[in-house]
Amino acid sequence: MSVFEAPEFDDHERVQFFNDPSSGLRAIIAIHNTRLGPALGGCRMWPYDSEAEAIRDVLRLSRGMTYKAAVLDCGLGGGKSVIIGDPRTQKTPALLQAMGRAIASFEGQYVVGEDIGTNPDDMREMRGVTHCVSCLRKEDGGYGDPAPLTALGVFSAMRAGVEEVFGSDSLDGIHVAVQGVGNVGFNLCRQLAEAGARLTVCDVFPEQLQRITEALEVTIVAPDDIFDVESDVFSPCAMGGIINDDTIARLKAKVISGAANNQLEHDRHAEELAQRGIVYLPDYVANGGGLVSCAAEWQGGDPSTVPDRVRAIYKTSREIIRMASEQGITTGAAADRLAESRFRIGAA
Ligand code: NAD
Repeated sequence: MSVFEAPEFDDHERVQFFNDPSSGLRAIIAIHNTRLGPALGGCRMWPYDSEAEAIRDVLRLSRGMTYKAAVLDCGLGGGKSVIIGDPRTQKTPALLQAMGRAIASFEGQYVVGEDIGTNPDDMREMRGVTHCVSCLRKEDGGYGDPAPLTALGVFSAMRAGVEEVFGSDSLDGIHVAVQGVGNVGFNLCRQLAEAGARLTVCDVFPEQLQRITEALEVTIVAPDDIFDVESDVFSPCAMGGIINDDTIARLKAKVISGAANNQLEHDRHAEELAQRGIVYLPDYVANGGGLVSCAAEWQGGDPSTVPDRVRAIYKTSREIIRMASEQGITTGAAADRLAESRFRIGAA
């Protein structure tokens, strides 16, 4: 398969393949764009069916990181890495060290973090070989679990959407339906409850529901009923593809802000939401708090400034909503334009 001719290729600066027979490492690192700084992006370990599938994934994900880092003003570019293999059976210290050496060969132009199939233990293993590692645990010198900051970003984006629809950014008395009360969803519910919001939640795991009912006052509905709740806001914090032909018609909420990646099943669903008067905060903006935290960790800033940097997602979201309305485009397209205006050479 040709990299340059792949549909996902978008003027990537560098795509490099690594093979380490002694550890079994087969990996690809893609740097999409470094105009705004070194490329930060997670390392995904996945048993890809083919090399072509791994190439497509690394090209698509690294491009997405450029947009996310640019729109959130992180002072970083976008990159990603993939290890071809099963993380449950093929991940060994030797393989992770070989990956660390591959990352080190970029001499600071690629900074790794965790993704599907890798975790903070793996980051620590790579940190033994290269300093270009982020998303470390606090005891390893990092900022720790980013989920509370991801939740703060979702909360901040939500305020911007609520202001657009209801005329005030206060969440007091606002009814929010949260899909999935895991790491991010649970933290978000805490912040929403403190702000005076009313909560309806669902999850597929009873333990998660028990944890939240012990901590907060919430109404629980069955997972499939979350789309029919008469709420003001819908917050998808579980999985992707949940805004689709079936669910859009059922949604009563006027604002969507959540943590899940790739919430829209197809791009055309962004237009459909806009036609229905639903303000959609693009997922990669709303869930960017974790990236802001990992970026600050890598840049060595004062950790106490990170929450304010995450709260700035409110301002970015307001800007995106304004651009969408003025230019007659969807909020997703507005977010992309804002990002491109920052990282494209010659952009305004
Ligand atoms: P998590 O696994 O801790 O929580 C997800 C929760 O969703 C779980 O409790 C799970 O039981 C529940 N769930 C799964 N399917 C469901 C369904 N059909 N209906 C209702 N609940 C369902 O994950 P998380 O860290 O909270 O992340 C949530 C989402 O946000 C994920 O899509 C993740 O990729 C994305 N995200 C997370 C972060 C972060 O900092 N953790 C950052 C950016 C994006």
